[in-house]
Amino acid sequence: MSTVTDSCDVCIVGAGLAGMNALFVAAQYTSRDQRIILIDRRERLGGMWVDTYPYVRLHQPHPMFTAGDIRWTLDRDRDRGRGYLATQPEILDHFEHCLDVIRQHATVEVLLGCEMESDTEADGVVRLTCRTADGRRRVITTPRLIKASGFAVTPNDPLEIRSDAVHSVSPDFCDMSAGEIGASDAPVWVIGGGKTGMDTCHALIASQPGREVNLVAGSGTFFLNRDRAFPAGARRWWSGTMPSASGAQMLSRFDGTNEREAGDWFRNAHGTWPTAAADSYVLGIMSEGESRAIAAGLSHVVMDRFVDVVDGQGSPLMRMGSGATRPVTPGSWIVNCTGYVLQDDMPYEPFISPGGCVLSIQPRSATMHLTSFMAYFMTHMLFLGKLADTPVYELDAVELRRKSKLALPFGLLVVAQYNLSVMYDELPTRVFLECGLNVDRWYPLLRQMMGSVRFVTTHRRDRASAKRTLDTLRERFDLRCGPLAPTT
Ligand SMILES: Cc1cc2nc3c(=O)[nH]c(=O)nc-3n(C[C@H](O)[C@H](O)[C@H](O)COP(=O)(O)OP(=O)(O)OC[C@H]3O[C@@H](n4cnc5c(N)ncnc54)[C@H](O)[C@@H]3O)c2cc1C
Repeated sequence: MSTVTDSCDVCIVGAGLAGMNALFVAAQYTSRDQRIILIDRRERLGGMWVDTYPYVRLHQPHPMFTAGDIRWTLDRDRDRGRGYLATQPEILDHFEHCLDVIRQHATVEVLLGCEMESDTEADGVVRLTCRTADGRRRVITTPRLIKASGFAVTPNDPLEIRSDAVHSVSPDFCDMSAGEIGASDAPVWVIGGGKTGMDTCHALIASQPGREVNLVAGSGTFFLNRDRAFPAGARRWWSGTMPSASGAQMLSRFDGTNEREAGDWFRNAHGTWPTAAADSYVLGIMSEGESRAIAAGLSHVVMDRFVDVVDGQGSPLMRMGSGATRPVTPGSWIVNCTGYVLQDDMPYEPFISPGGCVLSIQPRSATMHLTSFMAYFMTHMLFLGKLADTPVYELDAVELRRKSKLALPFGLLVVAQYNLSVMYDELPTRVFLECGLNVDRWYPLLRQMMGSVRFVTTHRRDRASAKRTLDTLRERFDLRCGPLAPTT
């Protein structure tokens, strides 16, 4: 098999939201005669959005789901302020649009269906080995590699279930409103109370009113209340709490030891949830209307952990983590809506390699709460040569999730708060002003400015307390959490 050898000035692996933000920033530091290569193993741009379940919608306002500050072309933009939730095809179109805009001033070659298999760094040069869709090897050398595997979301398989008397399906391969499950009227059991579980319940309840839809919700998940975080229309002038303000309130109550108490406060002040109890928060957003519709449409909600369905006498039995069992109607559908993000098998990698040529954007060395923000800010830090000397903290979010799901959102938000403050002293102000990911942009400029003034006047004081909180998390959970260890 032939090997193609190539070189470029910047190589970015991953064309999801993280990779597109890295590309947006890299394009600002490269001239037209320099070459950027963008690689993804998927067949089109968009990362997880290429193959997520078809009824998925953004749960946040779409203008702030972008690369850098690229504006959407969606007609619904005219509807800006009313809270339209973009669909999967609209999101994928926006990824294409972002590439078109970036290409107006940068030379970008895109290699889709191409998997990076390995990378090695020596003397300021990185050598990547990739496998193209037709099975050929491609070797690329570059002085800068950005590995933007980000959340690395992959479709979920159906749950493995011992009983043959029920159907086990995954929403990624089985549209709730079409095909066999849509044609059947047998009960559905949605397993998982997070964003996918809620979308699935909502899709089923809306498309088939009267069908028995049940939820196994674990300890329950709560969501940021969209009506309060993103009030519609003119109400943006006087009502709602900007996400930066609610986040700051939440963090001011958290000291690294009291996630349950601080989480309860945040849920009651800013959350919404459709189940009887709700402990976890995974940065999801939901409206009160959705929450009410789901709560009203569900037949049974089980606050327990799903284990299996086994054949019982008479009818199949669902086994729960608590040891309880409950009968299930034969022919029921079991839909796997358990989590996609922060999977345990993701290997650790520092956010910057010892040689300084490889930036890695992924949650094992998280520097922000979301990979899009990490890619945007850390790519600026890379190109400005600031990563070697700035004490940016990394947080192993996968490890924290394993040790405490309740502390996870706090860990992510506090590391973002700390690093934003550190980077504010290092990066030009324009980097902050041009960050179109900032969801406070939902609000009128005057209110945004008030939020910015609050940040500028308080961030150094808050940085000290954020550092104490992160250090407490590190000691308490024996976590990788702190500045990168010096290399010798
Ligand atoms: C159901 C669901 C709904 C969500 N909704 C929202 C939302 O509304 N707003 C929001 O901000 N976030 C949302 N998220 C979080 C979401 O995952 C991120 O916002 C974002 O889309 C993730 O982008 P990413 O680039 O980090 O990861 P991904 O989308 O997983 O992209 C990573 C890409 O890297 C590629 N890649 C990785 N390794 C290699 C390799 N070795 N070679 C080649 N290619 C490689 C992968 O193929 C993939 O395309 C949601 C998540 C889920 C699961």
